[in-house]
Amino acid sequence: GDFPIEVDTLVIGAGPGGYVAAIRAAQLGQKVTIVEKGSLGGVCLNVGCIPSKALIEAGHTVQHARGNEELGITSSDVKVDFSKVQEWKGNVVKKLTSGVEGLLKGNKVDIVKGEAYFVDSHTVKVMDEKSSQTYKFNNCIIATGSRPIEIPAFKFSDRVLDSTGALNLKEIPKKLVVIGAGYVGSELGTAYANFGTEVTFLEGAKDVLGGFEKQMTQLFKKRVKKKGATIITEAMAKSVEETENGVKVTYEAKGKEETIEADYVLVTVGRRPNTDELGLEQVGIEMDERGIIQVDKQCRTNIPNIYAIGDIVPGAPLAHKASYEGKVAAEAISGKKSEVDYIGMPAVAFVEPELAMVGLTEQQAKEQGYNVKVGKFPFAANGRALSLNETDGFLKLVTRKEDGLILGGQIAGPNASDMISEIGLAVEAGMTVEDLALTIHAHPTLGEITMEAAEVALGSPIHIL
Ligand code: FAD
Repeated sequence: GDFPIEVDTLVIGAGPGGYVAAIRAAQLGQKVTIVEKGSLGGVCLNVGCIPSKALIEAGHTVQHARGNEELGITSSDVKVDFSKVQEWKGNVVKKLTSGVEGLLKGNKVDIVKGEAYFVDSHTVKVMDEKSSQTYKFNNCIIATGSRPIEIPAFKFSDRVLDSTGALNLKEIPKKLVVIGAGYVGSELGTAYANFGTEVTFLEGAKDVLGGFEKQMTQLFKKRVKKKGATIITEAMAKSVEETENGVKVTYEAKGKEETIEADYVLVTVGRRPNTDELGLEQVGIEMDERGIIQVDKQCRTNIPNIYAIGDIVPGAPLAHKASYEGKVAAEAISGKKSEVDYIGMPAVAFVEPELAMVGLTEQQAKEQGYNVKVGKFPFAANGRALSLNETDGFLKLVTRKEDGLILGGQIAGPNASDMISEIGLAVEAGMTVEDLALTIHAHPTLGEITMEAAEVALGSPIHIL
């Protein structure tokens, strides 16, 4: 029988948005139930951030193992057992997802397996293969995430891969075509290039990795080409033909139609929000034409007791954004005045060199009417970067000329993904270049580059003329 279960706060989806929201809500004294139809951890832990970074690291290990002629260390006998790589990657994922389960249970969050569907603004039905159960809630946080966009001419198959397919290959492709060189395509393409795959990127726009400054994407393009990759921009992928053991991809570039043969084609042309099969129309939740849910600064939808977070609301589809919004929504339900403020939110592409940005770019700052002063410092002038043999790249601080307020920063270089946090802190805390310049940074570290860029902005750098 379907006797409704009454719950206080119901969270739908256990990705980095939902599970973080559930934990914070529980910490604040709410009785929380979380519904997940797939695996705890969502896209990020199972088929996104984490396995992709594991695969990227395995590719780096191959590169390191091959050695470096400049250092006089080389090896021609590097063996890759790809099934072991996949097994290791799977173990990393398993550790983290069971960690999430432990955290949810430790916070007394009830975990319900099944697919949630809205009946009205206080009711969902949760279905699994066998049964259906109705839940009545006071407040709900929707965190159902997104899935890859499938383009009609490229139906996903064993050879036409989405990101999940590309992460879970059983062999290293000899040739791979990547359609769409955004974050996901560029990262996975680079990982396979490091394993020795001949990668061709087809990008529809004028440049790869849209959103990053040209000077940054150029460094990535140069590096990945050195690995044997080909990048074709302003290329329109037209069709794919599956052959006995591969694919033929037809595309148009510079007015000419071309065909490339490869083992696989990876299609990463964006993601669509999982808001179409939830019964949201029964509740009257406002969405745009793409299915993105409109929310206020507390992540509340137009229905006052229903909140939405993560990839299904406006903004960059990133895990740390989902988690941040999860905390805000949970706090809002507890009556706190928390509001989202994305000023210090970073974005990172884990390519080579790593690209990272936070706050405003130079151009955005100028467009917003700031009198801008930039402080830029190259990795090539940093002792640690030299001794890591990783000298490509730069760090740029965007500041307000009058008082040196840090408005944003961009980094292209080794460990940019970690280094961006310091600039994020500066933006978030309203610090100035003087604050960064006066902070003693350990020597020799890449972090010194941030201090040096601040000194450049102040007009008195030590290690650059
Ligand atoms: P999701 O992680 O998508 O989780 C949603 C969950 O809801 C899923 O588990 C789903 O099964 C469940 N669900 C959906 N509908 C229902 C329903 N009706 N009932 C019950 N459960 C439901 N971001 C970064 O910040 N850094 C990275 O390095 C990064 N790398 C990425 C690499 C790849 C290959 C991909 C694909 C993505 C990557 N992302 C990265 C993006 C990141 O994974 C997403 O932004 C993040 O997972 C979004 O979190 P979420 O909580 O909104 O949704």
